[in-house]
Amino acid sequence: MAHIFAIANQKGGVGKTTTTVNLAAALAAQGQRTLLVDLDPQGNATMGSGVDKRALQRSVYHVLLGLETLAASRHPSPSGKYDTLPANRDLAGAEVEMVELEYREKRLKRALAEHTGDYDFVLIDCPPSLSLLTLNGLCAAHGVIIPMQCEYFALEGLSDLVNTIKKVHANFNPDLRIIGLLRVMFDPRNTLGQQVSAQLEQHFGDKVFRAIVPRNVRLAEAPSYGMPGVVFDRTSKGAQAYLAFAAEMIERVKTF
Ligand code: ADP
Ligand code: MG
Repeated sequence: MAHIFAIANQKGGVGKTTTTVNLAAALAAQGQRTLLVDLDPQGNATMGSGVDKRALQRSVYHVLLGLETLAASRHPSPSGKYDTLPANRDLAGAEVEMVELEYREKRLKRALAEHTGDYDFVLIDCPPSLSLLTLNGLCAAHGVIIPMQCEYFALEGLSDLVNTIKKVHANFNPDLRIIGLLRVMFDPRNTLGQQVSAQLEQHFGDKVFRAIVPRNVRLAEAPSYGMPGVVFDRTSKGAQAYLAFAAEMIERVKTF
């Protein structure tokens, strides 16, 4: 049975997609059968996995609208050893089209239900909003992984997200919980970053992952080659952090 995790944070540019792609590649590199679901119409996780979003005949859009099965719509990543359920701009329309449909917030959950035996991990890259797409991600997931930068306003933004997760838990998905907070784009020389990081540990205890992802240019370069950073330059500090994070996740799910 797959562990299904949504990678979410309503802020844009905080490292959701980088985390989803590199965690998927790092889990796959450690022998885990992994599916990456791209729920962002920007399709960055799709492109970063080496799947051309402009050439898709079938995508997550078709699955959400019930036009195609997941089995027919998933694509293997040519660069990572995982499957993708890719996205492109079509998905922006799904939001409106789904409103009319029954079970509109559970369409991804239902599509994944037949395939939980195919994978050890399913990772869902959420868009930077609390939209119906994100709600589908949160309803399909067992837990949320929250990437965050250790900045002054980070804790404030976090309380909005925590409230949203509580609401989804209460109204739609009693399985949902926060798996953990991942510190990303971390700069150890930045004093404020260290302070915020220490505050996070105080408030959230072992909900803060031990792995810390540093700011690392190789992670930012990799998507333009259609590769996860973990594949593009495995020895880079960024890749090593995501490999350590994957090992930590593999350990953590054993306790679930
Ligand atoms: P989101 O999906 O939350 O919008 P992204 O993962 O797309 O965020 O990251 C935003 C930008 O920051 C991208 O250009 C990405 O390459 C870059 N980035 C993400 N993580 C790192 C990192 N650890 N070091 C350097 N650049 C990063
Ligand atoms: Mg993104």
